[in-house]
Amino acid sequence: MSDAQFVYGAQVNLERLVREMEGLFHLEENLQNEITMALLDDTERPRLTSGANFRGNWKKPFVSAEVGEMLPHWQVGVYLNNPLKLSQAANTFRLTLALLITVLLLAIVIGSWLIAFDLQRQLRLSRQKTDFVSNVSHELKTPLTSIRMFAELLADGRVQDEKRRREYLGIINVETARLTRLINNVLDFARIERGEKTYRFSKCDLARLVDEVFESYRPQLEAHGFSLVCDIPARAIFVNGDRDALAQIMVNLLSNAEKYSADRKEINVRFAALGSNSPLPCPTIGDVILQVCDRGMGVPPGCEEKIFEQFYRAHDSLSSGIQGSGLGLTLARQIARAHGGDVNYHAREGGGSCFELRLPIMEPEGSSQQTTR
Ligand code: ADP
Repeated sequence: MSDAQFVYGAQVNLERLVREMEGLFHLEENLQNEITMALLDDTERPRLTSGANFRGNWKKPFVSAEVGEMLPHWQVGVYLNNPLKLSQAANTFRLTLALLITVLLLAIVIGSWLIAFDLQRQLRLSRQKTDFVSNVSHELKTPLTSIRMFAELLADGRVQDEKRRREYLGIINVETARLTRLINNVLDFARIERGEKTYRFSKCDLARLVDEVFESYRPQLEAHGFSLVCDIPARAIFVNGDRDALAQIMVNLLSNAEKYSADRKEINVRFAALGSNSPLPCPTIGDVILQVCDRGMGVPPGCEEKIFEQFYRAHDSLSSGIQGSGLGLTLARQIARAHGGDVNYHAREGGGSCFELRLPIMEPEGSSQQTTR
């Protein structure tokens, strides 16, 4: 009802109104410890509160809202009983978030680095494999060419001189041995890679084995002008090993000493003992060390460990003119490790290389005496 000549008004009993609203200002028990709810009048003084826990400034509610047109400037405010707790929680949340983001970023960085590293490794490996194929083809071709040439000469009956005939047969022999060595290395490498390589372990005399391999290699080395110093003890040095595999290590080390010797053609083979225990599950009395040293070009600094990696060649065929597959030392080390030993390199004092084969010595059965040859 409205009339322009009259102004209607109503008096509100505020005290009563406030009393009647009292029932609304009750909070659940678990909320009471956390927040306080208050009704503030137009002078921002609390007229009703949900509890007596709040000790702060009534003028700074956490959230507030006007009651409405009926009670202008009156507000309902919510206050945090312990605002520090909230900021602590916020800080913890911020810290957790920062940590999560850092971990995520780190994971991304490390992941990318690993992917890049792996890609690089794959790339290097595939390059090495391509080199390997061309190196092996070359290594196969060279001895095959000379075998064919000398065999043809002999077959034609054009060589009458007995000395020359024997010389040619000798060359065919050496080249065949070279081919066998290469093929054995490649086949053994493939077997090891597939996990199919098996060793026939038995008690074998390493001193005799080294002597045999060295003596069978001697004519070839001497024919190429090498002076040889071989210091092999007369007594037996027993190791638990696969004879053929151990001979292959020796052949690889000797043929490397031959290949990588330039002008100073001198090869030295000797034994050195070392007292340390081996991880082999058979009784041992320490390790034996066999050294194969030369006075050749040595391994370039920085490549001392890389030369044991598959296909790795510190002197590549193009620049050095020396052919190889990059498998000889990889195999030598793999075989030695399968025997509880190792193969290592160190530069030789006065120039050249020194390769050391370390193997655990087998304890003589029944007594501490050693058999002599
Ligand atoms: P390769 O078939 O190339 O000889 P290896 O695995 O036997 O393969 O040797 C790896 C590399 O180690 C060789 O390419 C060569 O650079 C280096 N190397 C091996 N033996 C010797 C040595 N006696 N003197 C100098 N360098 C050597």
